[in-house]
Amino acid sequence: MFKLLALLIGIAGGLWWFARSGRVRSSDRGGRSRSDPARLAPQMLRCEYCNVHFPESEAVNAEKHVFCCAEHRAAAGY
Ligand SMILES: [Zn+2]
Repeated sequence: MFKLLALLIGIAGGLWWFARSGRVRSSDRGGRSRSDPARLAPQMLRCEYCNVHFPESEAVNAEKHVFCCAEHRAAAGY
């Protein structure tokens, strides 16, 4: 009876240890992924016509010039 109890405690301890080490590893992974959005944050560009800042994905380009919309690109003469 005592052997069985010791075995169960050993198994429970082993499971606790595995769960604990797994949690530490997953929180490490979370820490890394939490820093990823900062690195993947959209780069902000400035419209050469109205000086408004906007994400790079919304940029309207004309050669090396960057504008917030097609209207401002046209207004700037590109
Ligand atoms: Zn603009």
